[in-house]
Amino acid sequence: MDFELSTEQRLIVDSIRAFVARELMPHEDAVERTGEVPAELDAEIRAKAIAAGFYAANMPEAIGGGGLDAVSVTLMERELGRTAFALQYIVHRPSNILRACTGAQVERYLLPTVRGERVECLAMTEPGAGSDLRAMTTKAERDGDGYVINGRKHFISYADRADYAIVFAASGTEETPRGPKKLITSFLIDMGTPGFEVRRGSASVSHRGFHHCELEFIDCRVGPEQVLGAEHRGFDVANEWLGATRLTVAAQCVGRAQRVHEMALDWAATRKQFGQTIGRFQGVSFKLADMATEIAAAELLALDCAGKLDRGTATDPDFAMAKLFASEMLGRVTDNAVQIFGGMGLMEDLPIERFWRDARVERIWDGTSEIQRHIISRALLRPREN
Ligand SMILES: Cc1cc2nc3c(=O)[nH]c(=O)nc-3n(C[C@H](O)[C@H](O)[C@H](O)COP(=O)(O)OP(=O)(O)OC[C@H]3O[C@@H](n4cnc5c(N)ncnc54)[C@H](O)[C@@H]3O)c2cc1C
Repeated sequence: MDFELSTEQRLIVDSIRAFVARELMPHEDAVERTGEVPAELDAEIRAKAIAAGFYAANMPEAIGGGGLDAVSVTLMERELGRTAFALQYIVHRPSNILRACTGAQVERYLLPTVRGERVECLAMTEPGAGSDLRAMTTKAERDGDGYVINGRKHFISYADRADYAIVFAASGTEETPRGPKKLITSFLIDMGTPGFEVRRGSASVSHRGFHHCELEFIDCRVGPEQVLGAEHRGFDVANEWLGATRLTVAAQCVGRAQRVHEMALDWAATRKQFGQTIGRFQGVSFKLADMATEIAAAELLALDCAGKLDRGTATDPDFAMAKLFASEMLGRVTDNAVQIFGGMGLMEDLPIERFWRDARVERIWDGTSEIQRHIISRALLRPREN
């Protein structure tokens, strides 16, 4: 394994870090205070990201994307992770699942999304189907050539700003030795389609300004050309393209942890109690050492996983380990940072309490820590059980 960055990768890191510091960080406090990213600011950041060449950096060059390899994307995600989620999200990396677009879908969805003219949201979760997605009750029933969709989704991020949704719905059942199994199909559905409504959902304590919505489908008719991938193969498309999203979470957790650690170091090196800086107390300095060690380990795991992705050898347990370790590491690092800052760590005057709150969601979305452990342990045990 060689973790030496190429000249091009160093350049990417330097330029995205400068972009984050110049264009995103100055807006962090306002977004946190108001819980909103004004539409004008969203448009301004998007335009600057496109001009700087950071937009759709994960997408192939042949369709107008940045064409970055997975290691470079991971480094970029790490840098973007340093700032508020609601702001970095605007420097959009379209969902990789859109690469499954075919025929007219390419012109209607994929290309405008890569150009920054349209934005997608991904709708899988329902009130009764979170970790167990196959329990979804949103139905797509055949109606002539097309389908009629009925049901409800919740926790759908960015649906309030999106132009279309990638929606997963139960489209039938098949008999298996373990009993009937739901078949799932994914659809590309434009906002404004009759029978499709979007409402702002509950506010989360993590990542203020990044909103989540409820989607409701009442007799919503879609054509066969709106099926993404093949009918009944929705989870195959998701499994093929969405695993790498967990690597994105891991990389962002590393970036955020690095920023928090830097702040904790500065504080420990200057805050005095009992006549000396608190960093002189082993109770504080050892925390800082543990934080640095864990961050480095999480970063290596994420970069190793990215290297495997580039070489075509990354597995689901690789993504799961990277996400599990980095998200749990961020929880410990932000908690230690609050401790090192003492009372000031909990005050809204400083961003430490924000990082602490923001860290919590990383162990839940894109598959909870328990689900990541399930993926890892099944891969370890299955060969021994057969
Ligand atoms: C802020 C936010 C944004 C989100 N954005 C989106 C989005 O854009 N699109 C989308 O589709 N979804 C989105 N989600 C949904 C997210 O992916 C789910 O919340 C997550 O998968 C967990 O589902 P759940 O919340 O229903 O929890 P549940 O599945 O009900 O889990 C509850 C608890 O039970 C545990 N558990 C469940 N099953 C098992 C098991 N087999 N073994 C051990 N423990 C288990 C879980 O680990 C957890 O601790 C978002 C969620 C949040 C919080």
